[in-house]
Amino acid sequence: MGRSEALFAEAMEHIPGGVNSPVRAFGSVGETPRFIASAKGAYMTDADGQTYLDFVGSWGPMILGHNHPEVLADVLEACREGLSFGAATEREVEMADLICSIVPSIEMVRMVNSGTEAVMSAIRAARGFTGRNKIIKFAGCYHGHSDAMLVKAGSGVMTAGIPDSAGVPAGCTQDTLTAVYNDLDSVEAIFDQFRGEIAAVIVEPVAANMGVVLPKEGFLEGLRRICTEQGSLLIFDEVITGFRLSLSGAQGYFGIEPDLTTFGKIIGGGMPVGAYGGRKDVMKLIAPSGPVYQAGTLSGNPVAMAAGLRQLKLLRETPDFYEKLNHKADGFFENMQEAVKAAGKPWQINHIGSLGCIFFTDRPVTNYAEAKTSDTKKFGEYFSYMIKNGIYLAPSQFEAMFLSAAMTEEELANTLEIFKGYLKQC
Ligand code: PMP
Repeated sequence: MGRSEALFAEAMEHIPGGVNSPVRAFGSVGETPRFIASAKGAYMTDADGQTYLDFVGSWGPMILGHNHPEVLADVLEACREGLSFGAATEREVEMADLICSIVPSIEMVRMVNSGTEAVMSAIRAARGFTGRNKIIKFAGCYHGHSDAMLVKAGSGVMTAGIPDSAGVPAGCTQDTLTAVYNDLDSVEAIFDQFRGEIAAVIVEPVAANMGVVLPKEGFLEGLRRICTEQGSLLIFDEVITGFRLSLSGAQGYFGIEPDLTTFGKIIGGGMPVGAYGGRKDVMKLIAPSGPVYQAGTLSGNPVAMAAGLRQLKLLRETPDFYEKLNHKADGFFENMQEAVKAAGKPWQINHIGSLGCIFFTDRPVTNYAEAKTSDTKKFGEYFSYMIKNGIYLAPSQFEAMFLSAAMTEEELANTLEIFKGYLKQC
């Protein structure tokens, strides 16, 4: 028995399912989770000493690769000054200034500790601002695990095939209305039914928790128009796309300004961080300046701020960072699609910027129902083949591949050869 297997068996005793987040379990792909011992650049090494080219990147934040030396140096320096003060610090001011200067729609921002918290708080702000209760989300979009958002969610909820979670009272989700991604008519229909009651529409501007699903032309613009007409707030959940698709996220990439934005892990450079921000007239309502209560002992933690600040500055200051990363990723995913075609398979590669995925289905995937037509058994076989050959993918059909700037053309070409090897034998 390998070390990962032994650790997993032990973990099963005292950790539910042996993991601290369901997406880490390899159950749906018939494998044992690899317990990771360390990571550097584009690679992770497990407890058995196996090294993998990492296409998960801690689910997004490691866009510069693991343990970037400059990020690490700043983290160590911050650690020496103190791990937590529970008081205001200069780094938080710098972080807020930096985010506001990079993302035009954000005039004020509040730091939290996770994407879940960011979304939960942004929704509270939207409800406080509009005095309305109802929220529209899209089937297959994941917005963290707060009660109100566990309705037709993607990611681990989708893999497990649990439409909702046990333990969530119906009262918590009665104001969460679900529309169809890429279908403006489904949004209009809800607005018609609940005129004057919708506080906000929350959307992943590129859906990345049902696999990767791109917004059709006009979809995000349509949401912007409808929200403005109806006096509802548009919330972009940029936990995945923020500082990834472009420096100013999906909103910069597509040129659309939401009223509120949620960010996550990427602004912590790998430390536990989230944030929400947007229009000043909305954000001013947050306590202590307003009546919408939201708080956090570890929010704006100095070590997390040090990591995030360095990462964001590197992203901002590295010349052509996004042009290069996105160009490299486009080439990689286009080559994957060509290899699929050459192998005579009907499967789909969806991709944008440094995010992508393969769907084992013969139809284009533009929403949740179409994503679910993917053959997840095939995905399991693909996953097993790739990990045996040193390629670490998210262990679920309904997640993204994340490319990092640490990956070289050569490593990507090598990955493609491994993928072709998979196609040959499947
Ligand atoms: N929103 C989106 C779009 C996400 O992808 C995630 C998690 N990947 C979250 C919210 C929740 O973030 P966290 O896991 O940090 O709570």
